[in-house]
Amino acid sequence: MSNYKQRVQYLWQRPKPVVVVGAGLSGMTAASYLTQAGVPVKLFEALDRVGGRTYTEQDKLGPVDHGAGYIGSTQTAVEALLEELNVKTHKVPGPDLLYTLSWGGKVYYMENVLQELLHDRLEWQESAAITQAIGDIYQKGEIIRSESGDPWNSKNSEILEWDKMTVQNWIDSMFPRIGNKFDNARTIFQFICRIPLGVEAHETSFLYFLWYFRNGSGLVQLLFPAQDKIVVGGTQQLSEKMNAQLPKRSQAQLNTPVLSINNDDSSKVVITPADGYPIEAERCILAMTPHTRDYIAFRPLLSPMYHKLPQRTPMGTTIKIHLFYNEKFWRVGKKLNGNATIFDGDSISQTYDCTAPGETPCLQAFYVGEVGRRMAMMDPAAREKDAKATIGKIFGNPEKANANIGYSEFIWENHPWIGGAPTGTCAPGTLTCYGNAVRTPTGRIHFASTETAQDWTGYMDGAIRAGHRAASEVLKELGKPEPKPLPPVPNVINDDLKMLNDMVNATNEKVNDSARETKNNQVRVCSYSPGLRITTINSPGSNPTIRISSSFQRPSDMEQAQQFLTQRFGNLSVGLEKFFSANKRKDKGLIAGLNKLQESIAAIGLQ
Ligand SMILES: Cc1cc2nc3c(=O)[nH]c(=O)nc-3n(C[C@H](O)[C@H](O)[C@H](O)COP(=O)(O)OP(=O)(O)OC[C@H]3O[C@@H](n4cnc5c(N)ncnc54)[C@H](O)[C@@H]3O)c2cc1C
Repeated sequence: MSNYKQRVQYLWQRPKPVVVVGAGLSGMTAASYLTQAGVPVKLFEALDRVGGRTYTEQDKLGPVDHGAGYIGSTQTAVEALLEELNVKTHKVPGPDLLYTLSWGGKVYYMENVLQELLHDRLEWQESAAITQAIGDIYQKGEIIRSESGDPWNSKNSEILEWDKMTVQNWIDSMFPRIGNKFDNARTIFQFICRIPLGVEAHETSFLYFLWYFRNGSGLVQLLFPAQDKIVVGGTQQLSEKMNAQLPKRSQAQLNTPVLSINNDDSSKVVITPADGYPIEAERCILAMTPHTRDYIAFRPLLSPMYHKLPQRTPMGTTIKIHLFYNEKFWRVGKKLNGNATIFDGDSISQTYDCTAPGETPCLQAFYVGEVGRRMAMMDPAAREKDAKATIGKIFGNPEKANANIGYSEFIWENHPWIGGAPTGTCAPGTLTCYGNAVRTPTGRIHFASTETAQDWTGYMDGAIRAGHRAASEVLKELGKPEPKPLPPVPNVINDDLKMLNDMVNATNEKVNDSARETKNNQVRVCSYSPGLRITTINSPGSNPTIRISSSFQRPSDMEQAQQFLTQRFGNLSVGLEKFFSANKRKDKGLIAGLNKLQESIAAIGLQ
């Protein structure tokens, strides 16, 4: 049927259809549930394909996922959809082989990256501070969850404060610049922000970061198991299969961006796509990333909260490239799994072996955040050359890394209707001031897209959940039964906290070990309260000295340390006060205060 005839049919159709804008996973999910409930649907897609940020190119060497590629263990909505559509997954090569970590000009091959990194590669003070900071993220995430999950509904003053900060502000407060003492920790947390969001720590709201990680089952799940499996044949087929299952007239009308929406009439909403034929609809679901809502002319203009939100939700930058090889050279000799994290440097920041069963060996690599923005301006040959140089270095085989038989890439920055990857982010002040416009319907307009999800925000799983939620809202309005709920996200926070706790204990063991080791040299760690270490050094032939090192992360650490010192040494009036007031101000008096405290303790004598 021609578009024109189809449209005439819709103009006269009663009941009026529901219009879904965007045929990514979220829009496809919404359209599926609506049509299953017998609601007529019209689905518009700006691109010449369905799938949005799931885009599988059928390269001659094998399918390549330029967008979403991985799923993880608590992503039960996407698991259920895969099963329903009979699509198989494949576990990425994992723990039986070694993981690669490149850091500070050195390359390490590890069995358990988190554990080995914290336990073996870092000084104990730094690893203690890092585990403490991870705990802080979990703790704050739980506060957000317990307050309805949507930070914009919260009156909790702490939550409001977190939205005034960038992630970098939090990093600075947790890991103050004391020489280069916490440089590694700072690098790690900047990386933790950059990798999943595609933006730098100084660009993003700390509240948004906490919300995102909590919605993704916590930091550990999001950084590790979320990349457990790939979808055999690529992720775009999910949308393609769902589209094929829709009644013919509800299937996505491609190459047809919606340009304007008239939400003036309380009995209908009028949608005008690029082909110029307006459609009267019962309701409309916008299933696109929030910043692209701004591409639509709303009449009348949406209220300020709604039209300002898109201006504050910039997309991240993630360039995903694929290199095909004749063999998995990273396996030979070193037995590497091909998965690498490159903490510093100006090049790719991660690699994965994304080879599907029976396919040509393929390594995937990512340019992210600031580096991604810069690399996006170079030509493909320069990116390929740069990535191969880094891969050769980290896997210890430049010659083999250079011998790729194919290369494929996609620059989401240049994509007119998406404009970046992997997700829309939030600048400070966005969630608390404009958050209500994320998913609350306005008039007859409803909102889907992964950015509006309450679980796995930013991921395919979140996109499906958001589509399901938006369809449920519309069905409720239409007086129709809502679809059955999606499988809930299992709560694994406690398991992860237990694992972290074990790591803290391992770190404490390490502290004890270091105390024991140094005892023979007459160096003794006398105390440890968070952020404070007192050591006595008795070198033969010289006066005994007391060394104090401090690295307070939170005001409560300082209070604890102050309490500890007062209990232990009584009232060290001069030193203690100077030390703590300087510490609170973080000014130059800190060193003077520290010296004074050291002197005072020495004067009293340390038993
Ligand atoms: C490089 C990259 C890597 C990723 N990795 C993963 C991963 O490993 N695992 C994971 O779970 N997720 C990953 N994601 C995220 C995942 O792809 C998204 O969360 C999900 O696909 C979003 O689906 P959506 O339907 O919400 O939005 P989209 O897929 O963006 O769909 C929105 C659609 O709306 C269309 N549109 C926009 N404006 C209009 C208009 N005016 N009229 C008509 N159509 C319009 C767009 O063209 C688009 O097709 C990744 C994303 C990228 C880009």
